[in-house]
Amino acid sequence: MAAQETVDHKYVYDFSEGNKDLKDLLGGKGANLAEMTNLGLPVPPGFTITTEACQAYLATGREPDGLAGQIEAHLESLERAMGKRLGDPQDPLLVSVRSGAKFSMPGMMETVLNVGLNDQSVVGLCAQAGQNDRFAWDSYRRLIQMFGKTVCEVPGEEFEHALDEIKNAKGTHNDLDLDADDLRGLVDAYKKIFLKHTGREFPQQPREQLDLAIRAVFESWNAERAVLYRRQERIPADLGTAVNVVTMVFGNLGPDSGTGVAFTRDPASGAQGIYGDYLANAQGEDVVAGIRNTVPLNELERLDKKSYDELLGYMARLEEHYKDLCDIEFTIERGKLWMLQTRVGKRTAAAAFVIAGQLVDEGLIDLDEALHRVNGAQLAQLMFPRFQLDHEFEAVAKGIGASPGAASGKVVFTSARAVELAAEGESVILVRRETNPDDLNGMIAAKGILTSRGGKTSHAAVVARGMGKTCVSGADEIEVNVPAKRFVVAGQTVNEGDVVSIDGTTGKVYLGEVPVMPSEVVQYFEGSLDAEHVDNALVRAVHRIMTHADGRRRLAVRTNADTGADAARARRFGAEGIGLCRTEHMFLGDRRELVERLILARDADERETALEALLPLQRADFVEIFREMDGLPVTVRLIDPPLHEFLPPLEQLAVNVAVAQERGEDVAKEEALLAAVRRMHEENPMLGLRGVRLGLVIPGLFAMQVRAIVEAAVECAQRGGDPKPEIMVPLVGAVQELETVRAEAEKIIEEVTREKAVEVLIGTMIEVPRAALTAGQIAEAAEFFSFGTNDLTQMGWGFSRDDVEGAFFWRYLELGIFGISPFESIDRDGVGRLVRIASEEGRAARPGLKLGVCGEHGGDPDSVHFFHEVGLDYVSCSPFRVPVARLEAGRAVVETGGSDSR
Ligand code: PEP
Ligand code: MG
Repeated sequence: MAAQETVDHKYVYDFSEGNKDLKDLLGGKGANLAEMTNLGLPVPPGFTITTEACQAYLATGREPDGLAGQIEAHLESLERAMGKRLGDPQDPLLVSVRSGAKFSMPGMMETVLNVGLNDQSVVGLCAQAGQNDRFAWDSYRRLIQMFGKTVCEVPGEEFEHALDEIKNAKGTHNDLDLDADDLRGLVDAYKKIFLKHTGREFPQQPREQLDLAIRAVFESWNAERAVLYRRQERIPADLGTAVNVVTMVFGNLGPDSGTGVAFTRDPASGAQGIYGDYLANAQGEDVVAGIRNTVPLNELERLDKKSYDELLGYMARLEEHYKDLCDIEFTIERGKLWMLQTRVGKRTAAAAFVIAGQLVDEGLIDLDEALHRVNGAQLAQLMFPRFQLDHEFEAVAKGIGASPGAASGKVVFTSARAVELAAEGESVILVRRETNPDDLNGMIAAKGILTSRGGKTSHAAVVARGMGKTCVSGADEIEVNVPAKRFVVAGQTVNEGDVVSIDGTTGKVYLGEVPVMPSEVVQYFEGSLDAEHVDNALVRAVHRIMTHADGRRRLAVRTNADTGADAARARRFGAEGIGLCRTEHMFLGDRRELVERLILARDADERETALEALLPLQRADFVEIFREMDGLPVTVRLIDPPLHEFLPPLEQLAVNVAVAQERGEDVAKEEALLAAVRRMHEENPMLGLRGVRLGLVIPGLFAMQVRAIVEAAVECAQRGGDPKPEIMVPLVGAVQELETVRAEAEKIIEEVTREKAVEVLIGTMIEVPRAALTAGQIAEAAEFFSFGTNDLTQMGWGFSRDDVEGAFFWRYLELGIFGISPFESIDRDGVGRLVRIASEEGRAARPGLKLGVCGEHGGDPDSVHFFHEVGLDYVSCSPFRVPVARLEAGRAVVETGGSDSR
């Protein structure tokens, strides 16, 4: 029975059988080819082998039962439909074999074109191509080259070398100067290379070619660069790729043929219009590889008006159907237009906002959908600074602004060097003639990418946009000489290590480092650009979508801020209070000396004197913060880190003492400090005398802070303000700890607020696993919980937060133990479960318990969704991330169907 089921399992879908919603099974390319076929667009006939077949192949090392027969059946019906047979010596059917995973992975996996050509059918193709022998032989040599490289791992340079030799012999640099005889000679040379490396002749059986090509595409899922790309883009490793077998159509059959890429709106700015590149008399990979420079798509109107009009019609149809920006690959074969691919197109962050706004205006989507279509990572990108330019900086070259942003750095010419210098902490710009998928490591390491060839759709551009990395492509004034490690531009030589600046929006290239200016989006958030009046499509779109997000979200967004200036900035960014004011930062600088006095105090008097000196300073800090956040809650956390962090390091003190002794100076104070540092030394300070433990051990310390907070609040209230202080106790693990601190604090609050009533809440951080697991008890003594997910992750996983990310996370990421650092994005299953348990049990014990999070995760998009699901009241994050959290909190509502999950 089980065997029967396997045999019957459907692994192959004709294009007419699929649709766009089957991406899991058919991959993005296959699902969209099926959708276009069903819409009646001219798609070359073909079929898709499912991702399930790939998964089965990768798991067992062989094709699953039944696959071969299904391929045979679909091939036969394809042959019937086309009236041609694969490998027919008179009139051969040729197919391409293309990868296509659920998520686009540009250039990462394999494709083999012209499958079905052999020594006989190439002659048939010559005849069918209208005596265009050159074309037929060129197609055959491309097959041997791609097949050899992809399927049989023949080194690609060998083929390149043979091609160069023939060109040199003819005295040309241009492939198009080679005639049919040259290419026939090249086929012979390629076959010899194939034989030399594989020990066998190039396979003449078309079905064997097809099967091996399919297998190679399956295997390319696990190619090193594909694995690396997936890790970078966080694409799951087990999806596998589908394989599309598509009837070949040719854009290289003469001047009335060609190939191109089109976008229904500008993927860089979002502007409405027709964008794209076209290359006459070429095959698709020539465009994507950026090997020859393309012409703008609207030139096609002049070259072939009929095809151009037809294409525009299909583009409008696709936009209307997908209700989004579509990108399209097409080929014109002797005046006949073929649609080879479409998908909802990748776009820059700016374009994502602008397009979402436009689609709402056009009535294609509503504001909820617009909110769903943008994300916090894009918003964060738009908050990057841009170059500040004046007359001193003249661009030395201008290419295509392929991926926006501004980047400066040292020039490097190889991926390896980029990785090396970046590891030393340098900013680098990777400069290449064109990039290829092997440059991925270098592209990840670089701040920006500059190429002298290619367009908006070349490899560098597509990959950089996906990564949100600045890229200028096709800057053809630059002459790149990789072996000599230099480029020449405008008569100047730029060597490896020299600094250049590139602007991925304008495409301009500058020598030296150009200063930067803030983004318009930041100016808008800061209030210096008025979205209602400014003529800036991006600012208006951001304003509109943010306003909608604010209207939709249930989570409040607060900020982590320790100074009045940070609080003010965060408030302009939309913060609705402070979720974490870390008071330890107020003990630094010239106040260190007072802390030293506190630590070195020999008796209660000395200690109290030190605390009394600190009190007015602390009070002034809080007055400033309450003033900036007037009317909004401010959670002040009592001091958390071990006190010895405020003392100089042991080694430095030991040296100071020795040097002073040598000089015969008075070393009493240094010696006392040194003794204190030795006494307070801890093997595991993160688990030592810190947080609430300090308050319980050092008399008067927490009391001084509580007094400063409440006196500051009273002072503000007396001046007509509306302070809302919340006192937060760190590192609590047992309710008794909190009860002790609370009892002391309540007395002080009672005393200080006698003059003027101010409500003061007392709550705790939940950052020790035991606190999460006894939250029901702790809630009895807490008016609020704030999850300290940094420590909760540290203690939940047992990962030292200061050490592990550099030490071994790379290995954990490689092994897939987690896909992203749990310090960056909340570990939903483990640490997240602690948050969930504490929320539920805390609220059960005290209905109305206020819940928030103030660890780094509060500004992480994915984590914000989790905190929404758990039902927290607010997230708190650094000022710069406040807009991101607002947006994501709105998206979380929309994505859970508008439900309030509490
Ligand atoms: C936390 O642990 O998550 C937290 C916010 O506190 P800190 O980072 O100061 O330890
Ligand atoms: Mg903490």
